[in-house]
Amino acid sequence: MAVQLSIHQLSKRFKTGEGVFDISLEVQKGELVSLLGPSGCGKTTVLRSIGGFLDPQAGDIRIKGQSILSLPPEKRPTAMVFQSYNLWPHMTVYENLAFGLKIRKRKKEDIHYAVSRVLEMVRLAGAEKKYPTELSGGQQQRIALARALLLEPEVLLLDEPFSALDAKLRLELREELREIQAATGMTMVFVTHDQEEALSISDRIVVMNAGKIEQLASPKEMYDHPATLFVASFIGRMNFVKGVADGKEARVDGLAEPLKTDLSGPVMLAVRPEEVQIRDEHETGLQATVRQIMMLGHYAEISLDTQHGIIKAFMPREGTEQLQQGQFCRIDFGKSALFSR
Ligand code: ATP
Repeated sequence: MAVQLSIHQLSKRFKTGEGVFDISLEVQKGELVSLLGPSGCGKTTVLRSIGGFLDPQAGDIRIKGQSILSLPPEKRPTAMVFQSYNLWPHMTVYENLAFGLKIRKRKKEDIHYAVSRVLEMVRLAGAEKKYPTELSGGQQQRIALARALLLEPEVLLLDEPFSALDAKLRLELREELREIQAATGMTMVFVTHDQEEALSISDRIVVMNAGKIEQLASPKEMYDHPATLFVASFIGRMNFVKGVADGKEARVDGLAEPLKTDLSGPVMLAVRPEEVQIRDEHETGLQATVRQIMMLGHYAEISLDTQHGIIKAFMPREGTEQLQQGQFCRIDFGKSALFSR
């Protein structure tokens, strides 16, 4: 695979001292990479720097090997989709879509053909004569996406494009975006603060925190092997239990078996709810009491009171039949990760 976008030691510090610092990453052709992190971590700053809406103080951004930093936004081989659609209300869907191609002096027949094709792609065939105000939020965002696709950018930039939509529509549009990406082979950089969204649509995820990259990995790798305590707490659900390590073993109060580790000092054990095993009270494990059983469709979420606070466990609903609120039990942690704290 060829590198489509490369960001090298990018830094942008605002007057407040905040910004992004020493960001380096490569995006392969046809890849969808998400920038994920809490509000203010710098996702949009990176995206705007790629699009040319911000001038970084240091570093380089290349598309297909060529630096794009000296180009104004309209000359860059990028297109951006915003959260707020940004359609022109006084223009029809056709006019909104055709605008960029007219500026590029494309022939009328070609524009007609391209517009009707892209409308099919975003499942709005025949909507040419409508005005944006006659469309729902989801439809308007499909048009905004279509407008960006028509420009055939080398890299499509998406800034929280689905966060103004309701939950069901968000799921639909995620799937559609993935289908469009597969059909067009377009390279995409997608900003989101929603970890579930990032896990579900990305080839790889960049988790950012305070202007820096914490981890860059596939969704599976990131879920199974979070590199830092921050990533462990940000991606998916996680239980945290404090322990102490001596460079060889980590001990957690209430657990008979120590864990092997080369960490020393205070540590944090991170355990996914689906890894928590609930056992009979006469077996070994951490003492616990069932606090609550919540049915969530095909699985249940069990809250357990322990000396380390509440621990959450997920289990298939069939497994919950012998559990009752207030029941004593023991729990074990199965696969878990240890971090310094
Ligand atoms: P959100 O999800 O809230 O949009 P984000 O991760 O996209 O957050 P950025 O918008 O990139 O974060 O902002 C990173 C930091 O830089 C924040 O602390 C923000 O307040 C600050 N910042 C962003 N733009 C500017 C600006 N034009 N002037 C000064 N500070 C800014």
